[in-house]
Amino acid sequence: MVKFRTMREVNNMKKETIINEIKESILDIVYPLRCPICDEILVQKSFLPGAPRIKIHEKCMKKITTINEPMCIKCGHQLLDEGLEYCSDCKKISHIFNQGKSLFVYKNEMVKSMYSFKYSNKREYAKFYAEYTYKKYNQWLQRIQPDVIIPVPMHPKKIKKRGYNQSEIYARELSRLTGIPVDNKSLKRVVNTKPLKELTTQQRKNMLKKSFYSENLFNKYKKILLVDDIYTTGSTMDAISEELKIKGIERVYCLSICTGKGY
Ligand SMILES: [Zn+2]
Ligand SMILES: [Zn+2]
Repeated sequence: MVKFRTMREVNNMKKETIINEIKESILDIVYPLRCPICDEILVQKSFLPGAPRIKIHEKCMKKITTINEPMCIKCGHQLLDEGLEYCSDCKKISHIFNQGKSLFVYKNEMVKSMYSFKYSNKREYAKFYAEYTYKKYNQWLQRIQPDVIIPVPMHPKKIKKRGYNQSEIYARELSRLTGIPVDNKSLKRVVNTKPLKELTTQQRKNMLKKSFYSENLFNKYKKILLVDDIYTTGSTMDAISEELKIKGIERVYCLSICTGKGY
């Protein structure tokens, strides 16, 4: 049933937006944003509420490799040849998730940026990652229409040690721009896995089996957007997708800030 908002509700919503924008302006002045590549303070043209803020230096943007068409239609890896549909990975593996996209190739400056984002409390970098996501993939998001954004969960022990889950920080910034809500409660990481870096795809698969647990989601959502910082082989996204699909989700999409080259 469509619920019409009263004038008072609309006015309250406007007031809330204005208050949030003023709060944000003050925060931007007190804690100036830093560039996610060189970590220097960004000089803003305006701190007026609602005015756009610079999130990265132009010269630093040129140093990073963005993912562009042609992309693998399954996982979103960069392809070199227009004539191809799938990357070499997706030709071999049949993924459980429906489709994935990423923003940047995980190399050089982006490796440093991701490291600081994950381990050095540079949570503010998420503002740039999310803004770029919105610019690049808003049309895709509108097409797939996810009901909710779910960040890839970290084991509670790891969160305690690190203080925050970087994927959740990214999810929250993306939610602010897209209006898609975030759910960080329904999906849990129940096994504290070792770093997967050195493992083969099969070893990753075995390790991740039963690592995630979600409540039944039949009545809650149909389409989920999973977000993570780095996509490597897709094993994590597949392990979660398997769990989510068992619990009633029809389609699972993935979005990662960085990915490997894929060719
Ligand atoms: Zn910079
Ligand atoms: Zn692929």
